[in-house]
Amino acid sequence: MELDEAGDMAEQSDAGHGGIPDWLAATLNYCTRCGAPLRFGPVEGEERERLACESCGYIAYVNPRMVVTTLPVTDRGEVVLLRRGFEPGYGLWAQPGGFLEIDETVNEGAIRETLEEIGLVVEPGEIVGLYSRIEAAVVVLAFEARIAGGEVRTTPEALEVRAFRPEAIPWQEIAFRTTTWALRDWLRRRHPELHPGGESLPEG
Ligand SMILES: [Zn+2]
Repeated sequence: MELDEAGDMAEQSDAGHGGIPDWLAATLNYCTRCGAPLRFGPVEGEERERLACESCGYIAYVNPRMVVTTLPVTDRGEVVLLRRGFEPGYGLWAQPGGFLEIDETVNEGAIRETLEEIGLVVEPGEIVGLYSRIEAAVVVLAFEARIAGGEVRTTPEALEVRAFRPEAIPWQEIAFRTTTWALRDWLRRRHPELHPGGESLPEG
């Protein structure tokens, strides 16, 4: 699902979904209020075209979802990453995280996802960054996190869990641009001597 962003955007405008990624538009066919078909087009009072119900007028707003993640840091200053056991990004490295539940704060979601995926109990600290991945319709929040307990374990979601020294981050095997950006921003803050964002790092 890691698509080229420019290409994907062009495809979207051709498809007439008004910026909604095709994979997401394909799931939005019927009104959740009355069950009639949704139609994409101009809607009175709206500044852009919307998906709306032909029958009851309900507007199906489509917004990005929030993904909460952590960069757990060991006492030795290493950052813990996992090798993903599922698509997208199967077999590549990413930080633990997942979709925020509707009844959670961002801190709670980050703690839960990190525990579920790699077995570590973390205390989220500073926010490293907030990143848009438009083709996936998500906004990704990355916390730096202190490891407070738990025990590293692999799960179906995490085939391997490893702590990397800042200078040994596997840049060529990172799953997502948002992971690259978060690691780069973390390094800029904690290890400016490594010149993160220099030519040695991919722009994603
Ligand atoms: Zn309706």
